[in-house]
Amino acid sequence: MNEKERRKWLWVGKIARKTLARAVDLVHEGMPVLELAEKLEDYIRNYASPAFPVNISINYVAAHYSPGINDSTVIPPGSIVKVDVGVHKDGYIADAAVSISLSSEYEELLKASFEALVKAEKTLMVGVKTGSIGAVIEEVILSYGFKPVRNLTGHKISRFNLHAGKSIPNARTMFSSKIEKDEVYAIEPFATDGAGYVVELNKGYIYRIISTRRTGDKQLDTLLRDMWRRFRKLPFSERWIAKSIGEEKAKNMLSILLKKKIIMMYPVLVEKKRGLVSQFEDTVIVTDKGALVTTRISELVKEIL
Ligand code: MN
Ligand code: MN
Repeated sequence: MNEKERRKWLWVGKIARKTLARAVDLVHEGMPVLELAEKLEDYIRNYASPAFPVNISINYVAAHYSPGINDSTVIPPGSIVKVDVGVHKDGYIADAAVSISLSSEYEELLKASFEALVKAEKTLMVGVKTGSIGAVIEEVILSYGFKPVRNLTGHKISRFNLHAGKSIPNARTMFSSKIEKDEVYAIEPFATDGAGYVVELNKGYIYRIISTRRTGDKQLDTLLRDMWRRFRKLPFSERWIAKSIGEEKAKNMLSILLKKKIIMMYPVLVEKKRGLVSQFEDTVIVTDKGALVTTRISELVKEIL
């Protein structure tokens, strides 16, 4: 990786951190999640583009919840709010998340995933096995008396590709691959007082293009061309489509594209036993000296923990 590329990864990392700092300031009981998501996405657009819709996953919802069109959910009292943001410029991506607790009761649950992240970042070196990072994450979270969420993982990132193959598990695993120089990873430990697994709900508001074939329908193909130009293989919100073509049309066309398997939908992921879930996430570059953290959410954590 040359200096110019490194600067680009670091720059989107900074925007992600600033976006999460906004989130820490904004989140309060009773706030509509739609308002929060749109404010944060607009904030990102001042500098770059969202790499995926802002995820706001509350309490037992672990991941992949982004408000849909006309979402009326508000932040409940005493909840744990996980805000997960993605920023990209020219395909260089930062993926980062913080948990904000509206109750002091959950401080230990938050600390468990944050400390796991910090220790994972210290462990990450060229040549280290991804499984050993998972083992470190698991050990920290268990030491707090919680469980890691085993079927959610960190992931390698490459340009325009949020999930570029390799994973960083949140627990010890049988299969493992080696961390290599100049790779970019998102590390994201999840801790829970539940079962330690997520399951899918039968709904979702985040989509991604999985095929570039044409449908033969002029309207659909025009929409697809526009979506490919804007998002490529990155996830997008139904809200963003509704903004350009209207609500009803957006819903209809997305459901047709889903049936044709040209796009996929990410189902909302919830904790299997409806346990509470905390998450912290940073994006890092692997260097000879170890992890160079691009998003540095630890700078925000003084205000959270
Ligand atoms: Mn994320
Ligand atoms: Mn991620």
